[in-house]
This record gives sequence, structure tokens and C-alpha cells, in this order.
Amino acid sequence: MRVTIFGTGYVGLVTGTCLAEVGHDVVCVDIDAAKVDGLNNGVIPIYEPGLEPMVKANHAAGRLHFTTDAATAIQHGNTIFIAVGTPPDEDGSADLKYVLAVARTIGQNLSRPAVIVDKSTVPVGTADKVRAVIAEELAARGVQIEFDVASNPEFLKEGDAVKDCMRPDRIVIGASSPASIEQLKRLYAPFNRNHERIVAMDVRSAELTKYAANAMLATKISFMNEMANIAERVGADIEHVRHGIGSDPRIGYSFIYPGAGYGGSCFPKDVQALERTAKQYGYAAEILGAVEAVNARQKHRLFELLDAHYGGKLAGKTIAVWGLAFKPNTDDMREASSRTLLARLWDAGARVRAYDPEASHEAQRIFGERDDLLLCESARQALEGADALVVVTEWKQFRSPDFGRLEATLADKVIFDGRNLYEPREVEQAGLAYYGIGRGRSV
Ligand code: NAD
Repeated sequence: MRVTIFGTGYVGLVTGTCLAEVGHDVVCVDIDAAKVDGLNNGVIPIYEPGLEPMVKANHAAGRLHFTTDAATAIQHGNTIFIAVGTPPDEDGSADLKYVLAVARTIGQNLSRPAVIVDKSTVPVGTADKVRAVIAEELAARGVQIEFDVASNPEFLKEGDAVKDCMRPDRIVIGASSPASIEQLKRLYAPFNRNHERIVAMDVRSAELTKYAANAMLATKISFMNEMANIAERVGADIEHVRHGIGSDPRIGYSFIYPGAGYGGSCFPKDVQALERTAKQYGYAAEILGAVEAVNARQKHRLFELLDAHYGGKLAGKTIAVWGLAFKPNTDDMREASSRTLLARLWDAGARVRAYDPEASHEAQRIFGERDDLLLCESARQALEGADALVVVTEWKQFRSPDFGRLEATLADKVIFDGRNLYEPREVEQAGLAYYGIGRGRSV
């Protein structure tokens, strides 16, 4: 089938590549000429396991094209995805300017029937807005072309995006017309062979499903961080509590890890946007407000532990930081808790030696050159001349360090474990002080 995808970010590029991988003929269009140029020359703009060889193979096979030419791209597809960004507006609601700009371009160039599919995460009612903009442009051109607007929210996880896209848990399709649902079912048939993954529904329910999923996951994280903060005060270890509750199948083990707060391009903005939508409809979404407030506070937790350990005297200290990305297996630092930590450390007069396996170039772009930041080539290099170590992102390679070496290297012999990767006793036996999240030490 012929597919056009607007936006070659995490979602657009991965979706386009996976659709090409199963044999569809895909044109990806982006307004970022440098990105498109790079992609046409084999330069993949993001780090995502397994993506690069797949992009190159499908590009070489002629099933995956990249262009800035929206008009030609629109001629190509009878399914046209919108997968552009929906960043938060000033008041926290989703900013639809990119989505609606694409809708306008589609209306200005559509020449034959097509199903337009919102894949971006967009508030309930957006499909109606997209439909209105396209209809307005068609009317201005004085043409009548049949089109439908469907919703197909994306559930891929950064770091596992290719796997999630090739083997999705579910494919949510929201459309009012049975023909549109059929068209999307045919498009996704190669991903739906083992068992039924397609969940078809009306457009508004599909739009809300995406927000509900992210809000639920963010709630689990904030809930566990709240429990961790209580555990710390009452002298309990949240890791025992986690095992104790996860074993209940009604609760389950996934997504109940306490830590330094959630980040990334989705949870923070989606929880905010859903709260905003509820407010617009006259409903105060109190759980969502609490989820955000707990998370905002949690992002300062690591700094508070450091500050308390050093009695407020962090000026002149050199802190090694392992992990900058908002989670492992990505180079994405949007809303990452590392950013809060680094800002607070710099305010307190400390220097940072940071290492992340993939996010160094992103950190360089965000922070630029500064005297109080050294971006290191390895975890070990970050430790050289450091007084303390803070682990912010749970990359696998940080899971079992040589504590003896850490004891010999870190001047102040202390580890702050923002993801509870280590056993406190093992660290302490090596002669290091240990701080985790919610591990029975009230500070
Ligand atoms: P991104 O910022 O990585 O990419 C967006 C791309 O759209 C950019 O390359 C940008 O240049 C391009 N773009 C903007 N305007 C355009 C236009 N008029 N025409 C063509 N291209 C245009 O964004 P992303 O992370 O891929 O997210 C896209 C959407 O998917 C968002 O709504 C997001 O909430 C949602 N989503 C993201 C994830 C994720 O893990 N990143 C997961 C599920 C859903």
C-alpha cells in the first residue's frame, strides 16, 4: 500500500521504516531539510536500537523515501499519517500548530481520496479540527475530494521503538467510517498475524486512550515515588515493599520502580495536556495534578540527598554523573531528571563530570561549553578526580560496577543511586556511603 508520513521524528521515522519493512511503499516528509538530507545519505538523526540498518535496507530497496516536498508526498499516499510534534503550549495544553499546519498542507494538495491518520498524541476533538481545516482548504480550491480523518495513536517506547512497532501490544484504530477502519486493518495486517491486536473504536475514544495509557503509567511512577518518600521517613526499604506488592497479580511488577522522577517527551506533557482538557470540560482532574506535583518534587530528590550529605557545602565539589538520557537506550534528554540535578549542582557551585552512552551529543547541544561540565567518553573517565558518584539513568552497563575501584577513586567515598540499582549493604561493605531512593534513610 502507498503510505505518506508527515514528520520523521521518533514516531514518524520508526513507523515509516516498519511499514516499509513489511512491504509498503512509504514516503516520509519533513520540513527539516537537514534531517531529510541526512536520511537520504544514511545519517539517522536519533539513536534507537535496530533502526539504522532497517532504514538503510528499506531506503536501498526503494520502499522508503525521504523528502521535503509535501505536495508530491501527498500525491503518493492513500493513507497519510500525521506524526509531527505536539509540544505543550504555555498553559500546558497540547500545541496543535504543527498538526494543523500539516492538515492545511494536505487540504491544499490533496488530489484523490485518502484516509488522513492522526498518529501524533492529540487531545480529544483534534480529528474534528483536522477535518475542518482540510475541508476549508478543499472548499477554497473549489474541489470535492473524499477524505476521512482517523485516529491511530502510537504506543511505542523510545529505546524499544522498533521492537514495539514490529510487535505491538495493540493497534488502536479510531474511525467513524467502516471503510477507513478496513483500510487501516489492511495496512496493519502484517503486524496482526499471530493474534488479534487491533482494537477498533470511535475517534474520540482512540484519542483519549493514548492519554489514559500515559497517565496511568505516570501515575504508577508517582505513586511509587510517593511510597519511597514515605518509606524513607518511616525507616522501611521501598525495594522490599516493591517486591511485596508486585507479587500481587492485580498490581504486577512493571512500572513500579521508584526513582528520580519521570521525564521524556511524553509523560510530562501528556499528563499536563489531559489535565488541561479535563479543565476545559469543567472537570478538575485531581489525580493528574497530584501525579505531576509528586514528579516535579521527585526530580529534586537526588540533589536534596547530595545537599544533605554535604551539609549544604557543595561548592567546589566534583560530582560524577552516570546517565543523562531520561531513560536507558535513548539519547533523548527532554525533561530528563538529569537536567534538574545538573542545574541544581551548578547553582550550588559544584562541577560535573558526566557520562552517558548515547546522550553526550545531546547534552553538548543543550548545555554548550561550560567550565563546570565535562562530558566524558566512559563511565570510568567520569570518576577521575570526582568526589562522589550519582547514578541518574539505569543503563545496563552501570548495574554492577567494581565497588572496590569506586572506593579507591571517589575522594568522598559516596554513591547516590537514583535508580536503586545497588544493594546498600554491598556498597557499604566496600567502604562507600550509600544513598538510594526510599531506602530507609530519613534525610
Ligand atoms: P519529534 O519532535 O521527534 O519529531 C517531529 C518531527 O516532525 C520533526 O522532525 C519535525 O521537523 C517534523 N515536522 C514538524 N512540522 C512538520 C510539517 N509541517 N511537515 C513535516 N514535518 C514536520 O516528535 P516525536 O517524538 O516523533 O513525536 C511525534 C508525536 O508522537 C507527538 O505527538 C508525540 O507526543 C507522539 N508520541 C511520541 C512518542 C515518543 O516516544 N517519542 C511515543 C508515542 C507518541
